Amino acid sequence: MSTGQPTRILILGGGFGGVHTALTLEKLLKRELRDRTVEVGLVSRENYMVFQPMLPEVISGSIGLLDTITPIRRLCPSTNLYTRTVEKIDLDRRRVSAAAGFGSQQCSLSYDHLVVALGNVTSFAGQHGLAEHALPFKYLGDALTLRNRIIHTLEEADIEPDPEIRRTLLTFVVAGGGFSGVEAVAEINDLVRAAAGSFRNVNKDEIRVVLLHAGPLILPELPPSLAEFAQRLLMKRGVEIRLNTRLEGATAEAALLVGGDRIVTRTLVSTVPSMPNPLVAMLDCKKERGRIVVDEHLELPNYPGVWAVGDCAFITDARSGEPAPPTAQHATREAHCVAENVVASLRGQPKRTFSFRALGKMGSLGHHSAVAEVFGMKISGFLAWWLWRTVYLMKLPGLDRKIRVATDWTLDLILPPDIVQLKTDKPSGIRREHFEPGQVVFREGDRGDWLYVVVDGEVEVVKAIPDGGETSLRRLGRGECFGEIALVSDRPRSATVRSLTDVNLLAVDREAFHALFSNLPPLRGFFEQLIDTRTA
Ligand SMILES: Cc1cc2nc3c(=O)[nH]c(=O)nc-3n(C[C@H](O)[C@H](O)[C@H](O)COP(=O)(O)OP(=O)(O)OC[C@H]3O[C@@H](n4cnc5c(N)ncnc54)[C@H](O)[C@@H]3O)c2cc1C
Repeated sequence: MSTGQPTRILILGGGFGGVHTALTLEKLLKRELRDRTVEVGLVSRENYMVFQPMLPEVISGSIGLLDTITPIRRLCPSTNLYTRTVEKIDLDRRRVSAAAGFGSQQCSLSYDHLVVALGNVTSFAGQHGLAEHALPFKYLGDALTLRNRIIHTLEEADIEPDPEIRRTLLTFVVAGGGFSGVEAVAEINDLVRAAAGSFRNVNKDEIRVVLLHAGPLILPELPPSLAEFAQRLLMKRGVEIRLNTRLEGATAEAALLVGGDRIVTRTLVSTVPSMPNPLVAMLDCKKERGRIVVDEHLELPNYPGVWAVGDCAFITDARSGEPAPPTAQHATREAHCVAENVVASLRGQPKRTFSFRALGKMGSLGHHSAVAEVFGMKISGFLAWWLWRTVYLMKLPGLDRKIRVATDWTLDLILPPDIVQLKTDKPSGIRREHFEPGQVVFREGDRGDWLYVVVDGEVEVVKAIPDGGETSLRRLGRGECFGEIALVSDRPRSATVRSLTDVNLLAVDREAFHALFSNLPPLRGFFEQLIDTRTA
């Protein structure tokens, strides 16, 4: 090791792969870190690590929101943490650029060894309307948003007289029958059915919870007998499972299925598509299915000193010859191996070959039930659930978190579910919406709270005529807007607008519209002229 500048080991990503790499390096390089001959740095968007296997329990409130996360600084006290977003990795110049913080300067970090552990990201690309209307389920914020949405829909349903709208509000759809989809649907089902008792006008029989799965049996990762057990149990608890069914798109009020079927809903969760991190996609190195290909030591073949682990890496297991699956178990073992190999490189010692066979697979089904395959043994029901909780409690980093989660779980056995709807974000003044042909954007007589701009597609503006029926006023296409009359005059909508084709719209809310209308004279002039023309 050099005695001048410290050797810099930089880790990108604060998930299972990144944090366990830092933890192991801290153990193996105690002396070097103390003597400052080695520096370990970790760049991550958040200053905490999320224990994703417990995320579904945040939905039902079985455990508190903050109990699934652990501050990285406490876990890895000898690591320099940069809570920043990585924007560029330059493998040739051995530099990483991270986004500016409070100031405007990017932060540029050089490295001797780089460990890429950036995971993958949720992608709704290619499925129209999903980005606008489906809820992803990967990060901590997603679990909170979903929980709030569910409680919000129950609040709305409680005071909604229209049976069609109630049906839409009380239908909850999850797409994806893998572990995260199944665990999410089980928790949603538990939450809505238990919480319904606190809403005077919500009848449990009106609630519909649907799981969509593209294959013939959910949980394809498990042996069929366990997957069948899980399927039967969920159905018994009221979850409707639609097999061989793919989600194609979404609108604000429906999940659209391949083949033309639709399920009306205001809560659609998609756990299906995940794609490689865009930063990984930008790297000029060998990739397989979008993931970074590494050798048996987890190092990039053409870039000595650059390593990759976790969901963003394509790792072929040395013993089985199979690609390592994207799981927390694997990311953790890969992290241990990569840390040992970085240290071996620094010390000029031989590197270890990565091989790991998963000890087991477990999935919670809510309500004191789970399925598990451990050391080849198949377990289901209460015993699997107890095992699931014990294993995850042991694996959860930090003693304080273990105590908090154990307390939450105990209280959850006796207390009713919390139904507080936390309003954290200021609602955005501008949003995107997607409509299928023939859908109504707004109706004559509705309150006019939004101005719409057509991003693509075509809509028709129609007005009811006294003897029944309606007359078409105009068609509007890309770049045109509508909805301004009701906003400016503060009167109900004077016409109905319906989509003629697939339509994507930008919707600007009343407050944002009035801020622009009042303060931007050219814009004000534009709208006044438009209203004159349209009302003439
Ligand atoms: C809901 C859910 C349940 C799961 N349940 C299980 C389970 O029961 N068992 C199991 O084994 N696996 C489970 N998994 C899978 C497991 O969580 C992943 O395989 C594991 O997290 C992968 O670890 P990673 O370090 O590769 O990626 P991640 O844990 O995703 O970490 C990636 C890190 O990189 C950071 N990052 C990404 N881009 C940037 C950027 N541009 N700048 C800065 N930081 C960035 C992220 O913020 C994050 O900290 C589950 C996953 C989900 C979503």
